[in-house]
Amino acid sequence: MEYEYPLFRPPSEANSLIFQVTHGCSWNKCVFCEMYSTKSFKVKKPETIKMEIEKMKSLGSKVNKVFFADGDALVLSTPKLLNILTELNAAFPNLRRISAYAKPKDIAAKSVQELTELRQAGLNLLYTGLESGDDMVLKLMNKGETYQSSVEGMCKCKKAGIKSSVMIINGLGGIQYSTQHAVNSAKLVNEIQPEYLSTLVLSFPFGIDHFKKRLHADFTLPDTIGLLDELGLFIANTDLESSIFRSDHASNYLVLKGILGKDKEMLLQKISNAIQKPEEASLREEWERGL
Ligand code: SF4
Repeated sequence: MEYEYPLFRPPSEANSLIFQVTHGCSWNKCVFCEMYSTKSFKVKKPETIKMEIEKMKSLGSKVNKVFFADGDALVLSTPKLLNILTELNAAFPNLRRISAYAKPKDIAAKSVQELTELRQAGLNLLYTGLESGDDMVLKLMNKGETYQSSVEGMCKCKKAGIKSSVMIINGLGGIQYSTQHAVNSAKLVNEIQPEYLSTLVLSFPFGIDHFKKRLHADFTLPDTIGLLDELGLFIANTDLESSIFRSDHASNYLVLKGILGKDKEMLLQKISNAIQKPEEASLREEWERGL
């Protein structure tokens, strides 16, 4: 397959066949995101998709997971997606997971019945960058979503039986909105009860000045202890039944893994230890974060 770069996938899709059904992101306006800033959004033509699946058929039984790139495959109409899923299932007999990035509004634009049909055709996991549950922060970052649109999309996903892996960005509200970002993000994930939850730390691939220019405002990222405080406040406010939690993205200072709620106290203790004795907490150095 000929890829149009840059190409992104979640870390857990390292062994999946990455299949671009769109190029770029149909929104492409989030202030903090540079993933597809060099690409114009395009939907791939059905005949191109058909031809590419035909070409990949030789991989046959070796393919058991497929990830739809780029930014938000769910923007495609349900009939288009069902056609692609049917063709993939026919090409790869061992296919057991098909996943994609998806924006809450694109999910919410489909009915539960449509989402159920997609799940029955094999689309069983969606990765969603919720980023924050705080409307002020979402607006500031031009996310194009609100607390309510996130709840609507992700709850529809759950009703349809599609698993969700959601992300929250530590530090996204800066110092100014840190507390409300943490508390409202916890409230949001509590309503959604995702199967997977992860946090990453806001980073500036083109420097803080470039970020501030896009934001049209001043911005101060909490320092490492401030970020850990915010993460602790977020976790303390979660009330999750069984969400696999990870804070192991390269951007994180402190690597955390557990199941929320069962491991909530253990995770909070680790954060508290790191705040009190940062020198003993194996916090990642800046060079290790590689950003
Ligand atoms: S919706 Fe996602 S991919 Fe698109 S600009 Fe925002 S964060 Fe980036």
